[in-house]
Amino acid sequence: MCRFLLSLILIIIIISPISFSSEISCKIIPLYPVDDMLPENWSKPNLCPPEVIVASDISINTKLDIENTLKEVSKEWGNYGPLEYWVMGTDKNAGKALVENYCKRREKRSDWEYNHCMQREMKSQGHSMIEYQKIGAEALKRKQPGGGAGHNGGFQWGIHRFTSSIPLGMESLLGVSGEEEQKTIMHEYFHAVQLSQIRTMDHNRRDKLLGPVWFQEGAAEYMAQSTHHLLSSQNRLKKWNNGKHTFDFHNSMLNKLERVIKKKKCVDKMPNASYSDPCRDFFYDGGSWAIALLLHNSSQDALIKDFYPTLEELGWEGSFVNTFGKSSKEFYLEFKDFLNQGSGGFSNMNNKKSLEILPNYN
Ligand SMILES: [Zn+2]
Repeated sequence: MCRFLLSLILIIIIISPISFSSEISCKIIPLYPVDDMLPENWSKPNLCPPEVIVASDISINTKLDIENTLKEVSKEWGNYGPLEYWVMGTDKNAGKALVENYCKRREKRSDWEYNHCMQREMKSQGHSMIEYQKIGAEALKRKQPGGGAGHNGGFQWGIHRFTSSIPLGMESLLGVSGEEEQKTIMHEYFHAVQLSQIRTMDHNRRDKLLGPVWFQEGAAEYMAQSTHHLLSSQNRLKKWNNGKHTFDFHNSMLNKLERVIKKKKCVDKMPNASYSDPCRDFFYDGGSWAIALLLHNSSQDALIKDFYPTLEELGWEGSFVNTFGKSSKEFYLEFKDFLNQGSGGFSNMNNKKSLEILPNYN
């Protein structure tokens, strides 16, 4: 028995460095744009796994779970990259060291001169890297959960670049659940999926292809929520069970719906409004429900399989019509009807009926 256990332990010890080193030995090749166009491989699944780089005050368990979450979700959506996911903790010096690490890499690859990079990323505004450290430190100081994570471009260097404040839930802080953080990572990663299908570097053309804010954010949020539900039901994500509230897809969508109903007037702003619009929150919550409705009437993988692969060729509206069989104008009317269903007001019965359009993988 003991010998068996010992040999089992040895096997585990022997196996893990090999599989680990095979991932590390993967040669990351940045896909630099040529003549204002990212290369074809930009839109194809990447051979290397996403790279997660954390500050020294972030635990190894957090790093491993970010890697696992990205790995599992990219099996569903495709593995796009090269991808760098930089994670800040709350310690100032550890934060500075991470920025130095980042800037050294940029200089080594001839992306950016070290001093310019440091100046920009240590600045206390404009989405600099060090700002993400401050967001986490501030949340802890005030004992109020809060965080930020973002796809911060990187196309000119042929990469997807992300920065995140401390994933509070994975560090078991302030009552946030680890599962909530997994969902956030998936939301951010979906932006990489979207952006991987756009090769032009022309700023205006990129913006047009991405479509309205509700579509960009609603797609990222809905896909993150529903895929979290799918992966959890298949036991492919770490179970943290550590927050004040357990993350649950249907509950979370119900909460969104309650907020959406209160801001129904924002539907009229869906086609054109920007991120700075007062309806911004609606675009995330209402956007998630709009995408839920679109996918209910097509298929759960319509965005991945149909919409994004034809986006650059057909344009946003063209790909929308091609995928969903109706114009966006027609859809806005349908979505308005959906929110006004039944008596036209908010009620438990109407909300339960709305929940029926969501997939249930349990
Ligand atoms: Zn987003």
